[in-house]
Amino acid sequence: MDSTHDTLARLKASVAATVDAAAPELVDLSLQIHGRPELLFQEFTAAQLLATRLQQAGFQVERPLCGLETAFRATRGSGSPCVAIMAEYDAIPEIGHGCGHNIIASAALGAGQALAALGAELPGTVVVFGTPAEEGGNGKQLLAERGAFAGIDAAMMIHPLDGDFVFAGTLAVALAEVEFFGRTAHGTMPERGINALDALLIAFQSFQATKAVLPTGRFNAGIITNGGGWVANVPDHTAAQFLLTGRTDDELRQSLGRLEGACQAGSTATGARHALRCDWEKRYRAMVVNTVLGHAFAGNMRAVRPGWDTPAPGVIPSIGATDMGSVSQLVPSIHPWLAIAPRGTTWHTPESAAAAAAEPGQRTVLEGAKAMAMTALDLMLRPELLREARGEFAARR
Ligand SMILES: [Zn+2]
Ligand SMILES: [Zn+2]
Repeated sequence: MDSTHDTLARLKASVAATVDAAAPELVDLSLQIHGRPELLFQEFTAAQLLATRLQQAGFQVERPLCGLETAFRATRGSGSPCVAIMAEYDAIPEIGHGCGHNIIASAALGAGQALAALGAELPGTVVVFGTPAEEGGNGKQLLAERGAFAGIDAAMMIHPLDGDFVFAGTLAVALAEVEFFGRTAHGTMPERGINALDALLIAFQSFQATKAVLPTGRFNAGIITNGGGWVANVPDHTAAQFLLTGRTDDELRQSLGRLEGACQAGSTATGARHALRCDWEKRYRAMVVNTVLGHAFAGNMRAVRPGWDTPAPGVIPSIGATDMGSVSQLVPSIHPWLAIAPRGTTWHTPESAAAAAAEPGQRTVLEGAKAMAMTALDLMLRPELLREARGEFAARR
């Protein structure tokens, strides 16, 4: 019987070989999903493609999951630890797969298939989750609050970007909606009305001033969704939406407080009434970074591609926002970003959508699948790794 070290090396070589053997079909699946972009909660084809292949690989598939038609849970193996691998597959309106979720889906499938191919040698349980609606639907938060992740010990996924970042956190984000109510009057007699657009513009400008006091890496973006009804009358109803951000929930609350102050300024100046709504429970949670799991993943990426590197923990504090934050609040999790495009490529654009189908993106499907499967094996065969990851999780949380 070989030592744990030898077993780990042998099984890692085996999962890498399985991914290589399946490379043409994994790339093909990524391109199929890319070629047929499906928006939040409508990802029927992608979910079906993944669930079918996982079933063929011996997974038990539960679909729909927690009332979500395009979500699934695919389980293979037995006993602990139970390691989750997340697939995303939703696209963005008009742009298509400009976030590259087709790569996330195919890499998750590849990792699941490779671990399943170990058969009786799989030293634990692997669960591949199909998680819809990352873009704007907060799918993983819905799954989390409905108990989908009970029994999971650790979770991982990869996400394509214009750089390799394993230790970056993500922002907490909430949507706020503002309405102003004034009084209409003939446009030539404004003194008889209360101008709801003036009120909104004052609020908008006041809130923009908070940029000056926000820590670096944060933003608060807004759009006017109703600027008034008819140009010949004093606008009596206007509305706007704001995307509020914070590195923590406390910072997010501060942003919300400043928006309330800005709205109050608009009301005080004009006499209009305002209503501010923010569904706090629907916010995107900040990522709880796990450097223990991050180092394990980075080590496996270096084994898969010699010379590969990533900035050390803390160098890049946070990037974007993701519903994986909700999972990271429950169990030790990683959400490494892997480069598929030159540094500086803007995300959610036709350029990033093209990258998600090009050769570096295809290579990332395979390397991501291998590194995730190998990290899952680390968790299954090195109990001290999971213990340390839990220790860090408890400390950060
Ligand atoms: Zn995105
Ligand atoms: Zn994304």
